[in-house]
Amino acid sequence: WDPEIFEKHGREVISQIRGHFEKIRDVPVAVPRDPAELKSAVAADPPETGELFERVLADTWEKVVPGLVQWNHPSFHAYFPTSASLPGVLAETLTAALNVNSMLWQTSPAATALELVVLRWLAAMAGYPQDADGLLVTGASLANLYALAAARDHALDFDVRERGTGGPGAPTLRIYTSDQAHSSVDKAAITLGTGLANVVRVPSDEQYRMRPDLLDEAIRRDLAAGFRPLAVVATVGTTAVGAADPLERVAEVCAGHGVWLHVDAAYGGLYRLAPSLASTLEDLSVGDSVVVNPQKTLFVPLDSTALFCRRPGALARTFRLVPEYLTSAHDGDTTDLMDLSPQLGRGFRALKVWWVIRTFGRAGLAARLDASVALARRLRERVDRHPDWTCPAPSAYPLVCLRYTPEAVTADPRLSEGRKREITDALNARILRRVNASGTAFLSHAVLRDGYVLRLSIGNIRTVGEDVERVWRELDRIAAAELAEPTG
Ligand code: PLP
Repeated sequence: WDPEIFEKHGREVISQIRGHFEKIRDVPVAVPRDPAELKSAVAADPPETGELFERVLADTWEKVVPGLVQWNHPSFHAYFPTSASLPGVLAETLTAALNVNSMLWQTSPAATALELVVLRWLAAMAGYPQDADGLLVTGASLANLYALAAARDHALDFDVRERGTGGPGAPTLRIYTSDQAHSSVDKAAITLGTGLANVVRVPSDEQYRMRPDLLDEAIRRDLAAGFRPLAVVATVGTTAVGAADPLERVAEVCAGHGVWLHVDAAYGGLYRLAPSLASTLEDLSVGDSVVVNPQKTLFVPLDSTALFCRRPGALARTFRLVPEYLTSAHDGDTTDLMDLSPQLGRGFRALKVWWVIRTFGRAGLAARLDASVALARRLRERVDRHPDWTCPAPSAYPLVCLRYTPEAVTADPRLSEGRKREITDALNARILRRVNASGTAFLSHAVLRDGYVLRLSIGNIRTVGEDVERVWRELDRIAAAELAEPTG
């Protein structure tokens, strides 16, 4: 491609992206497709000679895009949103063009400098010390793993790098987290070799928040039995219901036993920006380490997650290892970001975070987060007024858990309570399948103490009140239809 061809195709691609966003409300959020059919539509051997780009582009829009779930759709409400704002989309393009690797200061000084700047901004937004060590990583799961690796080395009073974690006299390490914590904590335990048996799931209270008294009891019991606490992982914005553990009291327990507190604020952390929530949210600064996820809440396209650690040098103590071929000169106050995680080659993630924050501004981002909070509040009010629906779990965040509980089932005197629950669970699961298959919305689910719930997360940058209203009407319509004529 010469530069002229590049620009011609570049304009086509940008124009098609524009069309895609302009028409996004008209396309189904997701279309159920037969996996074999989907694979055969794109199956081919690699071409021997280069193909015309026009054909490649046409195939992308015709054969690939329709088989995707449209995460940028305003009616995408599953999991947690990762909506791409347009400045973020353009930043990804420029990032690919520059193609720099920010593993060392000397491999891309301005990329590292910019990463340190956006980390400081993100720390300030989340209420975490701005001088904390930090880096951008690929998702909160890996951030949790890296933080727990540093916590492990802190917990062991011998040189883990030299000796490993095992050997005669090595203590068995335990991680404490609530019964609501994300599975990435378990995966971290698997990866670090502590094992699932040593992840202690502390019960949560009636609002799904970790019980600090039971945490304290569990640590005391384990210390008496000879276990060594590795860390406590608290969550701010749990995956199922958007609960926040009481950080101040959890931190007191951790301080009492000298245990590292890691805060998984992947979802909730950056909601501190929203004026309607700021005063009610937990103080993240009590965490020894914290993860927040701009890809979930700040309209930055996948992937970008920030890990912070306010124990100076702790991440580097675990991960710094410099072979001869990576030695470099350090003139002045520089940072090699490869020292803070196991990853060597690293993309220029900071650029898209920088562009998004600069183009929206702090107030612009805050207003959008507030708007999502308000949409969720209005939806909860609508649901609460409906006799056949409930919102079984409260959340400060714009995550609404809904359960269809029609009187025809709940007031049927012939059914036991257990049977009512079974029927209602199955009914809600069928509603989810049906609404997702309809293409009008895409939701996910959770199983709470009340049973199976539909989980509707609001946070897409394009979602407005009318979108949520439409999804709510559709859910209610499908629920009534499913009750009258079950789809089996
Ligand atoms: N922590 C929490 C609380 C989450 O909800 C999630 C994902 O939804 C994760 C961690 C993992 O995030 P990621 O997909 O960025 O690895």
